[in-house]
Amino acid sequence: MNMPREAQKLHRDIADRLRAAGMDTAMLDGRLIIQHVTGLSDIDLIARPQTPVSDKHIAQIEKMVARRQAGEPVSRLTGCKGFFGRDFKVAPATLDPRPDTEVLVETALRLLGRPHGEASARVLDIGTGTGAIVITLLAEVPSVTGVATDMSQDALEVCRSNAIALGVDDRLETVCTNWARDVTGQFDLVASNPPYIASHEIAGLAANVRDYDPDLALDGGADGLDAYRAIFSQVAGLLRPDGHVVVEFGKGQHEEVVQIAGREGFALIDDCSGLMRDLAGVIRCAVFRVS
Ligand code: GLN
Repeated sequence: MNMPREAQKLHRDIADRLRAAGMDTAMLDGRLIIQHVTGLSDIDLIARPQTPVSDKHIAQIEKMVARRQAGEPVSRLTGCKGFFGRDFKVAPATLDPRPDTEVLVETALRLLGRPHGEASARVLDIGTGTGAIVITLLAEVPSVTGVATDMSQDALEVCRSNAIALGVDDRLETVCTNWARDVTGQFDLVASNPPYIASHEIAGLAANVRDYDPDLALDGGADGLDAYRAIFSQVAGLLRPDGHVVVEFGKGQHEEVVQIAGREGFALIDDCSGLMRDLAGVIRCAVFRVS
């Protein structure tokens, strides 16, 4: 491909190639790829634009650029994805953390800001994947402790290594189980962003989701709502009397999720203000309490 060797020229060259391949975040993608391979910082790229990049690194960068041009997400190339201002390791067994989920995290942080009596708050994250939700909550609120579940042992290992890297592992327990089945104890907050795509819709998803996020993290069964039925049937005994359940779901699913929760004895808090919208205006998550 014959790429330039000076860092800033290299960055521009890669961005041009990615833009030509239709990537709308070409500059960012190029920077993340270069930084992942070379270890150069933002400052290096800006203040020392002529920093030479070695042949060995150029060869690695070329391979990654080709994969990116073919549509592979940058996070799958670098094994890393930013979420709520922190870097999370990702792997084939985990869903990439998404900006959509930040509204759930912000909602959970507001709930954790309420007084919890003497005890510090306990959080349960069901289907944790990378651990993005619970680890962010533990990192933001140092008194909180938590339990993270996943049915994939591989995902839990990713979650554990993220918890270690972000310094919260002494406050996080991981349990390999279906949803909350083998969890014991009492929680102030149960959070989950479970799989919610209907099985027959998986084939029609955008290739950058369908081909790289694991099916187990996407497939919500025939109508996409299996996880909510399981979760709401399991959590009643795990919630402290004034505790909350906050779940994320897909566009247009909120009415069905509210019905499922209602059948298991849960109601939206403060009627409709229990429904939260994401930045695009989509109703994206809901807060429930025992009704
Ligand atoms: N809870 C994780 C997240 O929000 C994983 C979600 C999933 O796999 N469906 O990133």
